[in-house]
Amino acid sequence: MRHIAIIGSGPAGYYTAEAAQKLWGDDVQVDIFDMLPVPYGLIRFGVAPDHQSIKGVSRRYEKTALNENVRFIGNVKVGEHVTVPELMQLYDAVILATGAPNDRELDLPGKDLSNIFDSAAFVGWYNGHPQFNDLNPDLSGQHAVVIGMGNVALDVARILSKTEAEFEGADIVTYALQSLIASNVKAITILGRRGPHQIMMTPKELGELAALERASPRVDRDDLPEEEEDMLLEPGLRKSVNHLRSFAAIPESVHAEKPIEIHFDMFASPQGFEGDGKVQRVKVERTEVHQGRATGTGEMYTVPADIVVSCIGYRSSPIPDVPFDERAGKFANDEGRILRGIYCVGWARRGPSGTIGTNRPDGYSVVEKIAEDIDAGTLGRADKKGREGFDAIAAERGLDVVTFRDWKKIEEAEERAAREGAPREKFVDVEAMIRAKN
Ligand code: NAP
Repeated sequence: MRHIAIIGSGPAGYYTAEAAQKLWGDDVQVDIFDMLPVPYGLIRFGVAPDHQSIKGVSRRYEKTALNENVRFIGNVKVGEHVTVPELMQLYDAVILATGAPNDRELDLPGKDLSNIFDSAAFVGWYNGHPQFNDLNPDLSGQHAVVIGMGNVALDVARILSKTEAEFEGADIVTYALQSLIASNVKAITILGRRGPHQIMMTPKELGELAALERASPRVDRDDLPEEEEDMLLEPGLRKSVNHLRSFAAIPESVHAEKPIEIHFDMFASPQGFEGDGKVQRVKVERTEVHQGRATGTGEMYTVPADIVVSCIGYRSSPIPDVPFDERAGKFANDEGRILRGIYCVGWARRGPSGTIGTNRPDGYSVVEKIAEDIDAGTLGRADKKGREGFDAIAAERGLDVVTFRDWKKIEEAEERAAREGAPREKFVDVEAMIRAKN
């Protein structure tokens, strides 16, 4: 029997468990650890609450989770309740699937003014992450600035724009929904330091902006390059740029029908924040882009901002005793191998890029590497204690482990508490989750 520990129960974790199960069948036992009592990581706390079809992928993970030889071990923090070296003693392979939960920092003057948030916090707030349930963003002002030209910036701009009716069927937590219903935001500026040909936004997500009930996307025609230059772009990006072109062609009369404006301000690099305790403006430098690189022109201006959300990408969290690549913000690894017996997968391996599905081949590939290492004899004999060994540690330390069966109880309680039309009302603190399973 081979024993595998996967740290993190998001997409990368479950695809890896699925791959191990497919390869070794009954000859493997997989334990999936999560610091929270609830599984699915990014699916629950990152994917936007109005993107329920994407969240549906958790049904596939549940199939894996319900296999006898796969266990969910929730409410256990690796690095605190149990260490990586301890797990390495017990399991043949320890795989870090911990994602990239921390934001890349936007270290600019004025960053400590209030009502400036990073995307992990803001997204975590509307998705009911226990760490951010008390964020309480102030949405009483008219101007919001979203920094970054990726899909997270789009999620944030869209969530700030939607009406109550447009949240029907979404699992946005009720406190966030109420706060958004009462919001006064009328102008959302998406700041991008480069131009239309360098956006990271994908076509489907960008296209959604055109269908919003009360918000209209606005792009300055002058920011768009000559149309024939689009031919050089890869097809996905070309489609996204087409959306920007169609936004630029929206007539003023149509903009005027919608009370909220989503303005793409490109070639605009944030330089600092100004305000009196609370943010009021973002200081911006106009840029020029040559061969994909932005350089400042020296032209400065300000954009009004009563709230700022910085969506400029993520970093993994280091774990004690595990080599970390500080510059790249991910574990130092060679195709998923970190050290003998320790691997990484998903965003922890390659950084925060790609879609949820990108993690599937990633999971399968790390399992192949483990199989190669087993064949080469580098992981030693199959005589580790695995889950039995962990259970002894959990009992000795009095850990309140949440199993998959416990999670199903939590899930049922969340479904029972749902508002009309919503799939669930999430528990937003760990104590409430634990109470629901007891
Ligand atoms: P991202 O796609 O890497 O975009 C980050 C953006 O931040 C880029 O436009 C980048 O501009 C900008 N940026 C970085 N540093 C900056 C700085 N110092 N000043 C100003 N701008 C800066 O990251 P993301 O939006 O966080 O998304 C992460 C991953 O999740 C992506 O793979 C994304 O597709 C995925 N995701 C997917 C969905 C979906 O499919 N529905 C939803 C959300 C997220 P430069 O290019 O100039 O560096």
